[in-house]
Amino acid sequence: MLVNNVYELIGHTPLLKLKIDTPNNSQIYAKLEMNNPGGSVKDRLGMALIEHGIEINAIKEKTTIIEPTAGNTGIGVALAAQKYHLPVKLVVPAKFSFEKQTLMKALGAEIINTPSEAGIKGAIQKAKELASGIENSYVPLQFENPANPAVYQRTLGPEILADLPNQKIDAFVAGAGSGGTFAGTAKALQAAYSEIHKVVVEPEGSILNGGQPHAHKTEGIGVEFIPPFFEDVTITDTKTISDDDAFHYVKWLAQNEGLFVGSSSGAALAASLQIAEKLPTNSTIVTIFPDSSERYLSEGIYN
Ligand code: PMP
Repeated sequence: MLVNNVYELIGHTPLLKLKIDTPNNSQIYAKLEMNNPGGSVKDRLGMALIEHGIEINAIKEKTTIIEPTAGNTGIGVALAAQKYHLPVKLVVPAKFSFEKQTLMKALGAEIINTPSEAGIKGAIQKAKELASGIENSYVPLQFENPANPAVYQRTLGPEILADLPNQKIDAFVAGAGSGGTFAGTAKALQAAYSEIHKVVVEPEGSILNGGQPHAHKTEGIGVEFIPPFFEDVTITDTKTISDDDAFHYVKWLAQNEGLFVGSSSGAALAASLQIAEKLPTNSTIVTIFPDSSERYLSEGIYN
């Protein structure tokens, strides 16, 4: 396959039929988003945020892009910004992985760390503060930007439908950080299969199921506020997965399916298995594996 530039490699990731045995003889398919060039589902978003900014004339020549991120969006934004020769500052809570922060820098971004305890809200506030002091700057703000769910509705959802032609999808299971992947993809799948179960996944320490917010080791998912994108998508079920369960399936996937996945993928598989119990026999479940374990090795993901 000949490609002309790295951007052509964003999207069109494989949908893997997992071997795992499930309750009710269901089949789980996982979209392998680590196959994007920046290594995660957020490459799609990085390009969408930059191109949307250009479209609405918020990004002009040499505009400094400033974005609060847990890391993968930062990598996606830095990759997309290179295409348009834009400087990038990424505001990252210090707790997020060394590898992700290193990759952002490798792509030419500057990193500003905020205290881990201040969470993503602290990073959002800091990004806005920075922008107010820099002329010709723009904060795409993935947590509110409608271009976020829109890119998943336009690309990820239709790709899944095309990969499973004439096969009814009974459930869609995905983690939520900004909530864009879940909301956008769920909408596209729901348009094709109105009865589809839409299952959102969060770690313990996230607030969707009414739990108290606290720190967790599962990285990339978990919310401190209800994503605004959830307003126009009905959620059938919210599964709260412990760090232990998420990491158990990370190891299980390496040993049994030859897959290197991050902890949010482990949580997605744990939730998919739980949901399989509720579905009729021979159901079809689709989930998303957002990134690879290789960007969490220094955190001891396989220990
Ligand atoms: N998994 C990982 C590893 C991520 O980095 C993210 C994004 N923070 C997600 C899942 C969740 O994606 P979204 O922001 O679209 O909800």
